[in-house]
Amino acid sequence: MSEEKKSKLLAKELFYKKTNVFEAKTAEERSAMMAFAEDYKAWLDASKTEREAVDETVKILEAAGFKKYTLGDKVNAGDKLYLNNRGKSLFAISVGSEPIEYGVRIMASHIDSPRIDLKPNPLFENDGVGYFKTHYYGGIRKYQWATIPLALHGVVTKSDGTTVKVTVGEDAGDPVLCISDLLPHLAKDQYQKTLAQAFTGEGLNIMICSSPYIDEDGEVAYDGVRLNVMSILNEKYGIVETDFLSAELTAVPAGKSVDVGLDRWLIGGYGHDDRCCAYTSLRAILEAGDTVHTNIVALADKEETGSCGVTGMRCTLLMDITANLAASFDANESVVRSNSLCLSADVAAAFDPNYPEVYEKRNSAILHCGVALAKYTGSGGKGNTNDTSAEYVGLVRKIFDDAKVVWQMAELGKVDQGGGGTVAMYISEHNIDTIDIGVPVISMHAPFEIISKADLYEAYEAFAAFCK
Ligand code: MN
Ligand code: MN
Repeated sequence: MSEEKKSKLLAKELFYKKTNVFEAKTAEERSAMMAFAEDYKAWLDASKTEREAVDETVKILEAAGFKKYTLGDKVNAGDKLYLNNRGKSLFAISVGSEPIEYGVRIMASHIDSPRIDLKPNPLFENDGVGYFKTHYYGGIRKYQWATIPLALHGVVTKSDGTTVKVTVGEDAGDPVLCISDLLPHLAKDQYQKTLAQAFTGEGLNIMICSSPYIDEDGEVAYDGVRLNVMSILNEKYGIVETDFLSAELTAVPAGKSVDVGLDRWLIGGYGHDDRCCAYTSLRAILEAGDTVHTNIVALADKEETGSCGVTGMRCTLLMDITANLAASFDANESVVRSNSLCLSADVAAAFDPNYPEVYEKRNSAILHCGVALAKYTGSGGKGNTNDTSAEYVGLVRKIFDDAKVVWQMAELGKVDQGGGGTVAMYISEHNIDTIDIGVPVISMHAPFEIISKADLYEAYEAFAAFCK
């Protein structure tokens, strides 16, 4: 038997090499990944808005014995609790056995995704076609949302104070809605425009109806298409046009997530950003059972628009929860925070071999190479970022390595090519060590985003190791 050369052994010992999940994991583990992805797809398809994600998750938490928690409630070790914040953000809490002064472990993701919201007064009729005026939500590339089937989701609060849920375009046989685009034959002028000019915010009008209301005498009514829309909506949901003023209605891609590729190792679907991190962290806290650490899974709203508002991560609620947990054990809240740790769980940009020019491959997340850690995000000269300390990266790295999690370190793309942020800085500003971590995504923010089942599973394993 020939011995390996010293240089080869040395290279193995000294060099960093990314691990591909397929090299690292057994056939048994690979089939566990496939099964996990099916559970995720079912939850994702039922959770197309933050409200739906909260509803679906509360069902799962209650089935697992988590009890409703209200600020001010006294808690005890072993308690499994959840706080539903206005139906749009959610906190799952598992109280650990160690003293609360040792800190809590937070896994914070978001359950809102880029989409096309209706304006408060949305309905108009133009040349016999009825439309909804829209105001897009989050960072969308507008051209991607034309000529695809759209579903309408949301809630309408009526004048009597009751709220009805609206879903159109998801059930078999349901009609869908659509934003039109030019035919190539007549797009000569459009072709000359830049992407930013060719598709405008005010141009994202959604076709909702194309026939007028017809009176009992067979005559077409005045403002007939508009009247037809309201008549159909009134029959189904009991709403009148004024009720749009107190509504949250949004157009999202219609249909379910699907496997991508002949080998079925990718999932294509709407809203992986950031529901893949929400679901994996949820599964981790559910399956951890009774733990030493106190764990909190935070599912935030409004990340895509800057984390503002009462359901965004800049709201004090997460810190209020931490303070309330501390108070339950007569502990000093600031001590609890100072010893707490956070994984800011949000998707990463996966290196796309079709667009290598915007990535710096050496420092990019590679598909199937596991969950991606990001020491910093931001843009330009690391502007607006939580830049994690070497020590905390080292601690997280050890937790993951000990649990045999396949992980990689990544930044978004080439320096000065663009950038992005997460909720990390809104948590670290409370004196909590925080690092970004997430599943790499191809075509992030598109109506049809793509992730790896293997990376999804490694995210779950990472969260499981963190909250153990
Ligand atoms: Mn995100
Ligand atoms: Mn995003």
